[in-house]
Amino acid sequence: MNPFHYHQGDLYCEDLSLATIARHYDTPCYVYSGAALRERYHSFSNALGDGTQVCYAVKANSNLAVLRLFAEMGAGFDIVSGGELERVLRAGGAAEKIIFSGVGKSADEIRAALSAGIACLNVESAAELWRIADIAADMGLRAPIALRVNPDVDPGTHAYIATGLKESKFGIPMDAARTLYLEAAKHPALELKGIACHIGSQLLNLAPLGEAVTRVRALYADLSAQGLTLEHLDLGGGVGIRYHDENPPSPADYAEVLNQALQGLAVKRAVELGRALVGNAGVLLTRVEYLKDNGSKQFCVVDAAMNDLLRPALYGAWHDILPLRQDAAAGQVMDVVGPICESGDFIAKDRPVRAEAGQLLAIMGAGAYGFAMSSNYNTRPRPPEVLVHGHQHRLIRRRENWDDLMGMELP
Ligand SMILES: *Cc1c(COP(=O)(O)O)cnc(C)c1O
Repeated sequence: MNPFHYHQGDLYCEDLSLATIARHYDTPCYVYSGAALRERYHSFSNALGDGTQVCYAVKANSNLAVLRLFAEMGAGFDIVSGGELERVLRAGGAAEKIIFSGVGKSADEIRAALSAGIACLNVESAAELWRIADIAADMGLRAPIALRVNPDVDPGTHAYIATGLKESKFGIPMDAARTLYLEAAKHPALELKGIACHIGSQLLNLAPLGEAVTRVRALYADLSAQGLTLEHLDLGGGVGIRYHDENPPSPADYAEVLNQALQGLAVKRAVELGRALVGNAGVLLTRVEYLKDNGSKQFCVVDAAMNDLLRPALYGAWHDILPLRQDAAAGQVMDVVGPICESGDFIAKDRPVRAEAGQLLAIMGAGAYGFAMSSNYNTRPRPPEVLVHGHQHRLIRRRENWDDLMGMELP
């Protein structure tokens, strides 16, 4: 399902023209389709079946309204900070479906997670394991944990989002994990729940994931043989999406790879999907400020910038750009750039865009790692976020004002 489509020459989100939203909220502005968010969640949870808890990776898009929508559908949540824990709880997410990932959990974050009663802490080092054990013992409870193992496979994705190689900071090497499980099993304040892994993001080929899951399965079998039977396997997230012309795996392809690797094994599963659930459910609306000709190069200067959408600057990522009015000016090859004082501030390079000053554009595929990575660099207020349901729109985060930007400072 693509919620963004042209209707009589106007680009729509569901049953609402994006020009209407731009008029109402001004630009830049993030717009999400409620129907697309629901459809993606249901596609994955149906394909994966009853034995698999789909956890939404909060960091991809952590707006409370988005979290509430997932909570209402029964999603679990994968969090990476105390702030994300607070968000999920405020959005009505069930603590017993929260998994806490990340290499640097602070003592305060661990305490907050244990008091909330989350499902599992995915532990990334021996040092962290013993810190968790101490805190749990102090609190008079048992900490539910999994070790996040590093299966040492190359996910074939951008270096910044590959996490399952042995030189990556993430996870515990397989052999070390085996030893650590057996030590942890003796600690009275630790409750060993499962094994976790996550090899990277924007995976387009699932063979490395299948390989990683096979290695996780071997570890599970090994531990079982030594009398340590775990309850669940958390297979991470990372399923890729189409930004341009990629052929991402379908929910059915994904389920098939997991089922193949885990055939005949009766153990609960969890996955931690972010981008695949929200990426193509959102766009960033922007307006062309100026067209600029530097002799050898043409620029399309828009009112959205790297502070609003960092992915092009950070990863060299591609986002399609569509005009809100289909019969707009003829296409010309340009760099689409923002107003920020950095040469890295671009949305697209050498792109044929049909644009003229004042025209509205939609930057596609901006639902994941879009607003979530935004900042106030250059003292730019962050854009509003709007959720569409059918022909209705609802503001789910207002545009920031000067007080939001400067009110915390002490001149
Ligand atoms: C980022 C992350 C995810 C989600 O990745 P997506 O590519 O958005 O699906 C899942 N698990 C962990 C541990 C992560 O760090």
